[in-house]
Amino acid sequence: MDKKNKIAAAVIAAVVLICASIIFIKNTITSQNRIAVIYRGGKVIREINLNSLSEPLEFDLSYDGHTNRVRAEKGKIRMQSADCPDKICVNQGWIDSGAVPIVCLPHKITIEIKGGADKIDAAAGGM
Ligand SMILES: [Zn+2]
Repeated sequence: MDKKNKIAAAVIAAVVLICASIIFIKNTITSQNRIAVIYRGGKVIREINLNSLSEPLEFDLSYDGHTNRVRAEKGKIRMQSADCPDKICVNQGWIDSGAVPIVCLPHKITIEIKGGADKIDAAAGGM
């Protein structure tokens, strides 16, 4: 009986350890491949591999006389400036994970960070 309990405890410990390492590996991959995906009106208009940036990247998204200036640095991205009325996107500041996307509602622009997926990485590499 005592031996059985020990085996059960060992099995549980092993399962917990495996789960912990899977989560750890997943997090490591995610932080290594941060892809910023910019959508306008639900369509992908640009993808940037944030981890491959060696120097800051700034560019404008312009349409219908409106402009959003995006600034990307290694591992993070923000809306540098915008001529939208609410400036919520600008005030949000830097994002460095997929937890909260930057949304500019008046201009229908969304910036989201995705990471870890090989498919997205391959697509970005081909650009
Ligand atoms: Zn905005």
